[in-house]
Amino acid sequence: MEIDKDLREGVYDHVVTRFPPEPNGYLHIGHAKSILLNYGLAKEYNGKFNVRFDDTNPTKERTEYVQSILDDVRWLGADFEDRLFFASDYFDQMYEYACLLIRKGKAFVCDLTADEIREYRGTLKEPGKESPYRNRSVEENLKLFEAMKNGEFEDGSRVLRAKIDMASPNINMRDPVIYRVARMTHHNTGDKWCIYPMYDFAHPIEDAIEGITHSICTLEFEDHRPLYDWVVRECEFENPPRQIEFAKLYLTNVITGKRYIKQLVEQGIVDGWDDPRLVTIAALRRRGYTPESIKMFVDLCGVAKANSSVDYAMLEYCIREDLKLKRSRMMAVLHPVKLVIDNYPENQTEMLTVENNLENKELKTREIPFSRELYIEADDFMEEPPKKYFRMFPGNEVRLMNAYLVTCTGVEKNEDGSIKAVHCTYDPESRGGNAPDGRKVKGTIHWVNAPTAGRCEVRLYENIVNEEGRFNEDGSLNLNPNSLTVIKDAAVEPGLMEAKAYDSFQFVRNGFFAADSKDSREGQPVFNRIVSLKSSFKLI
Ligand code: ATP
Ligand code: MG
Repeated sequence: MEIDKDLREGVYDHVVTRFPPEPNGYLHIGHAKSILLNYGLAKEYNGKFNVRFDDTNPTKERTEYVQSILDDVRWLGADFEDRLFFASDYFDQMYEYACLLIRKGKAFVCDLTADEIREYRGTLKEPGKESPYRNRSVEENLKLFEAMKNGEFEDGSRVLRAKIDMASPNINMRDPVIYRVARMTHHNTGDKWCIYPMYDFAHPIEDAIEGITHSICTLEFEDHRPLYDWVVRECEFENPPRQIEFAKLYLTNVITGKRYIKQLVEQGIVDGWDDPRLVTIAALRRRGYTPESIKMFVDLCGVAKANSSVDYAMLEYCIREDLKLKRSRMMAVLHPVKLVIDNYPENQTEMLTVENNLENKELKTREIPFSRELYIEADDFMEEPPKKYFRMFPGNEVRLMNAYLVTCTGVEKNEDGSIKAVHCTYDPESRGGNAPDGRKVKGTIHWVNAPTAGRCEVRLYENIVNEEGRFNEDGSLNLNPNSLTVIKDAAVEPGLMEAKAYDSFQFVRNGFFAADSKDSREGQPVFNRIVSLKSSFKLI
């Protein structure tokens, strides 16, 4: 691609890329794409990768975000070593470059109000009008700009503008504002500055100071590229960086975009920026996604020049693929109903040896207890089954996974009609789950030994917004009321009670689950469902 061409033609003899987040929120899956793309290119070309906080807009920035962003970048495996930078560390240099532009007659202090500037800017069809302050002398401009810096003017009363071309067909080139007066306390520089540079001026300078070669950004900046090039040229950088655009990553059925995520957090609709229903990187991590699965996803999406949306199911596909062979397949009953095996000896417990993952023998085996009383899923029993129901119903024989064949003999009810216990008898000759005479048994269900079962909370998730439409007519989010289901009292194999934060497992037939990092306690995990096992999504 373009980088190869640059190296071949000698435009650059090395590659330096960067990820430049604004610390005004947590990173999301779209940022993950940008991080892995920039990091991947640096690695591919044996170059360098910088992380730079684009912290030139103090009102929205917070140190909490700086920390979370660093955690996320590291977790994704994008190693920036000691190449961590803050745009605010360049404020002095930016000020000097602005003075250079003034001295070259390429910038001027303008006293028009914001509204007037907008009015003078013109439209796509009509050229703009020159500001009456455009032809101030270099001396006057230098003096006024210094006075801006020294706090002699009200917020918003004067700006510094680049002097380019009010008739340019590209509105970004019509004498854009490059500095404004704003009394804001900055998280890094405190109250040192009362003027702050605008993004289109600051960003190219940040890139150039760091010796970035390829400044990769999203498509909406394509129209800003002439201004980017103008800034690095007029500021006289040698070997200036070059901007390359690519499409943003959009996902169906989820919320990217900090503005909306922030709304959900601030309104208390979700449990913080890392609520597992969100697609912030922190949320994906908490839910049980792995860096490998996110990398696979980003690779599958590819780098495109046109905006498009990717199906959320593709992200789910990636985590399933990643965990399928790596994780043990455990038994957990989400909606437990008691199953009593009437012909199994009372007070006996046997240990069954089971494979942890039939497709990956390296995960070895484990022992699980089995006795007369078990739990099975409520919906694995039906008193009056419909056709093609092969699980437990009176008279039917099913396989208890890894254990025995049992035949349902009836059901015992409470006074209110609810099920107290399902009863069955087992075939002692079928240990391991196979009939000695080879008779066919269609249904296989999972179970957990009742006396030793761990009891814990399990959380199931759906999209936080409605699949039919993410937004209401008034622009607010169309929330899905069923996005979180809390199961208070699932029954799980005893081994699962030892799970630590982020440990993940397959719960057979129910999906992949991970121990929640916020709410799990030692010996009392809470499990998040990462993803169910089935999907209609297919890779073509
Ligand atoms: P958002 O509006 O979604 O919060 P942003 O663009 O305001 O995102 P920044 O912190 O300014 O977030 O962006 C940091 C980097 O991440 C930029 O280089 C930007 O191009 C990139 N980026 C942001 N969103 C996406 C996305 N959806 N897909 C790919 N790259 C993205
Ligand atoms: Mg932004």
